[in-house]
Amino acid sequence: MELGTVGEFGLIDHIKAQFSAPEGITGIGDDCAVLPQNDGLDTIVSTDMLVEGIHFLTDKSPATDIGWKAAAVNLSDIAAMGGRPSGSFLSLALPKSLSLEWVHEFIGGFRQLSDIFNCPLLGGDTTSSTDGICINVTVLGTVPSGTARTRSAAIPGDLICVTGSLGDSSIGLKMLLGSDTESADYGYFVNKHTRPMPRVREGMELAQHPGIHAMMDISDGLGSDIRHILKASGVGAVVDVRTLPLSDQLIRYCRTKGIDPCEPALCGGEDYELLFTVSEDYEALIGIAHSVIGKITKPEEGLVWKGSDKDFLGFRHF
Ligand code: ADP
Ligand code: MG
Repeated sequence: MELGTVGEFGLIDHIKAQFSAPEGITGIGDDCAVLPQNDGLDTIVSTDMLVEGIHFLTDKSPATDIGWKAAAVNLSDIAAMGGRPSGSFLSLALPKSLSLEWVHEFIGGFRQLSDIFNCPLLGGDTTSSTDGICINVTVLGTVPSGTARTRSAAIPGDLICVTGSLGDSSIGLKMLLGSDTESADYGYFVNKHTRPMPRVREGMELAQHPGIHAMMDISDGLGSDIRHILKASGVGAVVDVRTLPLSDQLIRYCRTKGIDPCEPALCGGEDYELLFTVSEDYEALIGIAHSVIGKITKPEEGLVWKGSDKDFLGFRHF
């Protein structure tokens, strides 16, 4: 069967079926694996790959931005668990024709973001490639024992919340790829796409509150990612699309273009905001800027988009 038919998540399920996570370890299926240690901390680990032509184009993005993003998408998975970054590993497959200057700038961008969150590069691997650049980053972090926020902890009655605003990154990608370059907000959108800021500090802060239940980062678009929480937690959800957090720039852009802002906000992807659920009586205690967008319901209720008659799916690789 072709992978296009199996789908990205079907493929991961197929791989997962051949292994079972050892007792006490959270394995395949969350933003990070969680490995309990004996010192009051759990180690969390995540890995992500960026492929030229799929995740970035060298003629559209400077190498520094690609380096920044390679670190950012990985640190976002540490943030998703409420973790503190410890260090990273970087593996590169590079064409022989690539210049040393490109690699120098790439590492510069990678370092800029790593420095912000005190996440030193600790190792990696380097090989040549016959076709394009391939970048793999593994990042390690820690959480106090038993406090990692997984996708499986949502409870009916929880409020559904997100940090920041949604959809800007996907408009930035569209602009980078050539259309709409004349927009007054071009720089704003493109920067949101090429230099996402992972919510590491917010994630750590949120994970200190016992009222915060499930958490994940939004990488494929809320329309897709929320389904992971529903599946892992065995719950349903109602999301009111009229309460989605949208930047002024996005509202302006969508109005000018006649686009339903729900499309970029739910289907766009690469927002790298945090999606979390919180018990209703606890929400007022959260000191992190966030928007309430819906409520967790019983599993039989499924996923309901209130305020729209459309269904929204996020990005899939296959
Ligand atoms: P994220 O978007 O947070 O990086 P993914 O959707 O890429 O998460 O992956 C979902 C889960 O599947 C993660 O737990 C990840 O570690 C796991 N996973 C993805 N691809 C593979 C693979 N080839 N082998 C084992 N686990 C995988
Ligand atoms: Mg993730």
